[in-house]
Amino acid sequence: MKDGNGEEETLDLASGVFLSPTEKGEGSSMPVVHLRRGEGQRLLAGHPWVYQTEVEEIRGDIVPGAIVDVVDHRGKFLGRGYLNPASQILVRLLTTKEEPIDRTFFRRRLEDAWEYRRRFLPDVQAYRLVFGEADFLPGLIVDRFGDYLVLQTLALGIDRWKDEIVDLLREMLHPVGIYERNDAPVRELEGLPLRKGFLGPPFPTPIQIEENGLKILVDVEKGQKTGYFLDQRENRAAIRPYARGKRVLDCFCHTGGFSLNAAAAGARSVVAVDSSAEALAGVRENARLNHLEEKITTVEANAFDFLRTAQSQGEKYDLIILDPPAFAKNRNALEGAIRGYKEINLRAMKILPPGGILVTCSCSHHLSRELFWAVLKEASRDTRRRLRLLEERTQGRDHPVLFGYDESYYLKCFIVEVL
Ligand code: SAH
Repeated sequence: MKDGNGEEETLDLASGVFLSPTEKGEGSSMPVVHLRRGEGQRLLAGHPWVYQTEVEEIRGDIVPGAIVDVVDHRGKFLGRGYLNPASQILVRLLTTKEEPIDRTFFRRRLEDAWEYRRRFLPDVQAYRLVFGEADFLPGLIVDRFGDYLVLQTLALGIDRWKDEIVDLLREMLHPVGIYERNDAPVRELEGLPLRKGFLGPPFPTPIQIEENGLKILVDVEKGQKTGYFLDQRENRAAIRPYARGKRVLDCFCHTGGFSLNAAAAGARSVVAVDSSAEALAGVRENARLNHLEEKITTVEANAFDFLRTAQSQGEKYDLIILDPPAFAKNRNALEGAIRGYKEINLRAMKILPPGGILVTCSCSHHLSRELFWAVLKEASRDTRRRLRLLEERTQGRDHPVLFGYDESYYLKCFIVEVL
């Protein structure tokens, strides 16, 4: 974009302000990543990643994890970020301004992320405080569970700043405890070791949080991912109006988020299915904690098998929730994933009576909204059951979606009536 003086301006990722070269300040001695001719448009549209294949050359020392500048083929500044020559994603941009990357920078980014949550989730105590790239802090995940924080540094360049970030989080939020869940396999793509443990003094786990007026235990130490799937909070609340007096089936229930909301909203009965015995132990504890144990039955099973058997035995449910893990972890896995999504949705449609409600989710970024829609349409055709859309939903606002960084949009959740 050109400003009034005819100077090329660049979009500052975080502030959305256009800056001219003069405003950006001159000169820096840091290594510079030069893009090939024709590359850089994606960055200008707000995407924070530079792939190895887009790079012409790197001028200066190549230090893994170090801060570098990224320029286009003419040398025009595009952004500043951290480098990892061992990763397909060579650079992840932290800023599109020529500003120092230091403690003050990280403090500002963390403050911004916190301010966003205070503004848009004012009454929520358990939320994702930092959602990586979508909070302009690539590779960093911080979940807040009341007085406790769980941290993941998923890329080398951000891992380097871990101590500083932990320090800042302590200063800002005064958490009672912080737990590191750096046992996520994606770290291996960055050449990072897998590890987990308390950062600072240990504290008893699980932690108890409150969500939608329910008490929920979160095992930050042994639970899946960071212990709890915060991204479904708003969808869990959204099923309540459909649950009253109904027979509910919650497939892929984990520690029972949807089940508890359904039971609390007056469901007649809830069957909670998961393949993980630990997750189901969590469901039972959560049910007891909320005095809903009479309503909720847990079943340890592969949800695919459970649905097949339920169908063949003519079991009936009025409301079925499908919240599977990401079947497509990458693009190559898409075909198999589509078969998986189709199968569970098709079975659920067959089980539901006319007028039954299906809450169906996909958290695979690689399965686009359009593809997921098409899968549901095919399942509808094959079962000869019409679908009527009641609500189209997505991830909670603490997992912001950033235009231009489309990877941030990953959770699809359709609530449909099955006619
Ligand atoms: N609905 C949950 C989150 C689901 S996460 C909530 O609101 O908190 C996905 C869950 O699917 C995990 O608990 C995992 O153990 C379970 N899972 C994975 N594969 C499964 C399978 N084939 N059958 C049943 N459960 C499965």
